[in-house]
Amino acid sequence: MEAVMLVRYAEIHLKGLNRPYFERSLMKRISLALRPLPVKVVREQGRVFVFGIPAESMDEAAQKLTRVFGIHSVSPALAVEKDWDAMVEGAKALVARRIEGVSQASFKVIARRADKRFAMCSQDICRVMGGLLLEAFPALRVDVHTPDFYVGVEVRQEQAFIFADELLGAGGMPVGTNGHAMLLISGGIDSPVAGHMIAKRGVRISAVHFYSYPYTSERAREKVVDLTKILASYAGEVGLYLVPFTEIQLAIYEKCPKSETTVLMRRLMMQIAEKIALSCGAQALITGESIGQVASQTIESLTVTNDAVNLPVFRPLIGFDKEEIVTRAKAMGSYETSILPFEDCCTVFVPQHPVTRPKLEDIRQSEARLDFTQMIETAIANTEFLAIE
Ligand code: ATP
Ligand code: MG
Repeated sequence: MEAVMLVRYAEIHLKGLNRPYFERSLMKRISLALRPLPVKVVREQGRVFVFGIPAESMDEAAQKLTRVFGIHSVSPALAVEKDWDAMVEGAKALVARRIEGVSQASFKVIARRADKRFAMCSQDICRVMGGLLLEAFPALRVDVHTPDFYVGVEVRQEQAFIFADELLGAGGMPVGTNGHAMLLISGGIDSPVAGHMIAKRGVRISAVHFYSYPYTSERAREKVVDLTKILASYAGEVGLYLVPFTEIQLAIYEKCPKSETTVLMRRLMMQIAEKIALSCGAQALITGESIGQVASQTIESLTVTNDAVNLPVFRPLIGFDKEEIVTRAKAMGSYETSILPFEDCCTVFVPQHPVTRPKLEDIRQSEARLDFTQMIETAIANTEFLAIE
């Protein structure tokens, strides 16, 4: 009997000829997520099996895998010989654990016989196994419609697999199968959620953060590093670029119309983010903007922001209410960190009366009053890089 993780995958099922590519990417993501465990990942007929996880690390490994995009669900399982007694013994061991400390529970057996040479058909497996488990565990009763849990039995070519739990995974596609994008990450609620959504589609994420020391604190920066770590627990490694933005922000603040400072700042952020994106091979930018949420997110403001760059800008939250975004932030586990009260560089320099309908021509003119070339170069030269895992 050997502990093994059974992994069911999500949308990869839909991929035709590219399927082996997606499967290999998923297997790589699984190995990376379980580092430093020396696991062996194999695929067989639409399933992935992970061997080599010590029994005591199984629960933790299952939790980690629920964050790997491309996975529909996982089940800690036992691999046993294709021998009926061994299968029953395995099922009993799993059920004993599953109902530990529970006085009553309902269950049913679901069987799959991929190896048609196995003597019992799936119905027989369900019926006989169900009966034996009922006998062995007085706390159990059968409920075929809404059981508290089910015991899965899969008879495959080499071995049989037994499991009693199924944890829902994150869905989506394996990171790295759909290119690479640069997330503009602030310390707020929205941008980590935006990054999570795009990573879920298989996009590798890098991130850029602008800070305005000493107007923003060291803690504010740490908060962004922490948020990036949370994002990386789903997206795999995230390269984080920390860009000193004070000089540019002060120049805008001192030389340009106060009502335009936010929009100008956003344009400069986008330009720098684009330059860094191009230098590291990212093909698009991602922001956490949503229509109308603040003055800098009206259609006019978004148009002016877009004008600053040529790369496509993904705004996955564009049609979401704040409440919906908060729900997602809580689900991904970033919310508690996002609401920590450290200033980010936007809040420090917010004008009292920002323009809500900026005209592109006016903004370009204001921007042209200052030559930002040198400041942009200096900011990029002083950018710090952290590989976050
Ligand atoms: P968030 O909750 O993500 O901070 P927000 O609602 O506070 O968003 P803004 O502050 O206007 O909105 O920022 C809009 C978007 O611009 C953010 O979602 C993020 O993508 C980007 N952004 C804002 N500030 C920064 C920053 N300091 N560094 C990098 N990106 C930023
Ligand atoms: Mg913000």
